[in-house]
Amino acid sequence: MMNCRTHCGACCIAMSISSPIPGMKEGKPAGVPCIQLSSVDMSCKLYGKAERPQVCVSFPATLDVCSNSRSEAFELINRLEELTVS
Ligand code: SF4
Ligand code: SF4
Repeated sequence: MMNCRTHCGACCIAMSISSPIPGMKEGKPAGVPCIQLSSVDMSCKLYGKAERPQVCVSFPATLDVCSNSRSEAFELINRLEELTVS
């Protein structure tokens, strides 16, 4: 486990999320920024709130996904999403 980077938000954009998000009740497709992602600092507007989706609360920042930089995280997550497209 690692600490989530500030000013990243790669997972909140590149990943598809199938569970409901406040403001996006169908979840979101890969590549679409979450409506709850702050464009100012790429933080989650629901951080610490009860409305934050469980999938986000339990998503761990790991080197496997987050890598060493924001752009590497985008590359890795895009690759993962391509592999899991059914
Ligand atoms: S990709 Fe990783 S480091 Fe970036 S916001 Fe998501 S959890 Fe944090
Ligand atoms: S709810 Fe927050 S943590 Fe979850 S995808 Fe949206 S911005 Fe990211």
